[in-house]
Amino acid sequence: MARYTAARLGGPADYLYIAKDPSYSDLIPLLDQAWKRQTPVTVIGGGANVLVADAGIRGLTIINRATDISHEDDGDEAFVTASSGTSLIRLARYCQEHGLKGMEWAIAVPGTVGGAVVNNAGAHGGDVASSLTRALVLEAAGGERWYDADELDYAYRHSQLKARADKRFFIKHACFQLERDNPELIQKRMEQNNDYRRRTQPAGASLGSIFKNPLGDFAGRLVEAAGLKGARVGSVQVSPVHANFFINSGDAASARDYYQLICLVRERVKEAFDLTLELEIQLLGEWD
Ligand SMILES: Cc1cc2nc3c(=O)[nH]c(=O)nc-3n(C[C@H](O)[C@H](O)[C@H](O)COP(=O)(O)OP(=O)(O)OC[C@H]3O[C@@H](n4cnc5c(N)ncnc54)[C@H](O)[C@@H]3O)c2cc1C
Repeated sequence: MARYTAARLGGPADYLYIAKDPSYSDLIPLLDQAWKRQTPVTVIGGGANVLVADAGIRGLTIINRATDISHEDDGDEAFVTASSGTSLIRLARYCQEHGLKGMEWAIAVPGTVGGAVVNNAGAHGGDVASSLTRALVLEAAGGERWYDADELDYAYRHSQLKARADKRFFIKHACFQLERDNPELIQKRMEQNNDYRRRTQPAGASLGSIFKNPLGDFAGRLVEAAGLKGARVGSVQVSPVHANFFINSGDAASARDYYQLICLVRERVKEAFDLTLELEIQLLGEWD
């Protein structure tokens, strides 16, 4: 799975299917069969928020690459619909090109629309919850249905879908309601967001923020204050630029190294501040 995750880590999937058709006509029967047979199914978008174990993932793994965006104008607003495999950055660019504001925050956030809808991805004061109107979800229990945004229980990097233990669903499409604006002004705001990111966040293979920010504080500040900037396990390092980013800096790195660094940082922050950092990323596969 290393080639399908942003951290460039993770062992083999038993079965891998790369979805490319944005109507998902090929994927739906495959998912139905797998769910009926009780085969474990894992959906990966950009793999930008998941750490996959070195032992890999059992059952069927879907890599969602199906891309499609369209919009309908409605006066000063437009409703934009994207297939869940669409890159979030591509969606942000589409909105800029069509003079639609509200997705400027997403211009440098890796991953797909599906992952962003699950995680309530956000940056620079914006997030999915601010403009998503509804999402079309295929359910293992049978059929598909539109979820209105208010049913998704959105909060900071949280949704009802992320909290669901069964994971037996597949987001097909998402709709966003956006207002009209001058494309040049939108472009300007995107450039500002990109500049800020370049100044404050490290390059290299990572998963973005590892921990959620605790209320009223920043996980990166706590990790740094615990003296852990630059700490290493094997080839994985707490970034010297931003302490909530862990960088896989070498070919020899393993998911175990990455995980051990997470555990070490969590322990040290707990010792120093009596506070347990909550993971923002998700662990896939088996961990002990
Ligand atoms: C350098 C870097 C910077 C980042 N900066 C930010 C940031 O500023 N803000 C932010 O919020 N995040 C950030 N992230 C994290 C990441 O970009 C987001 O969490 C993103 O939304 C993940 O999308 P994905 O498609 O990669 O999801 P994945 O990691 O592939 O999956 C995440 C979860 O969503 C589920 N999922 C994905 N697609 C579907 C689907 N179609 N149906 C059902 N379930 C699905 C997966 O099963 C998994 O549980 C950053 C990551 C990196 C590497």
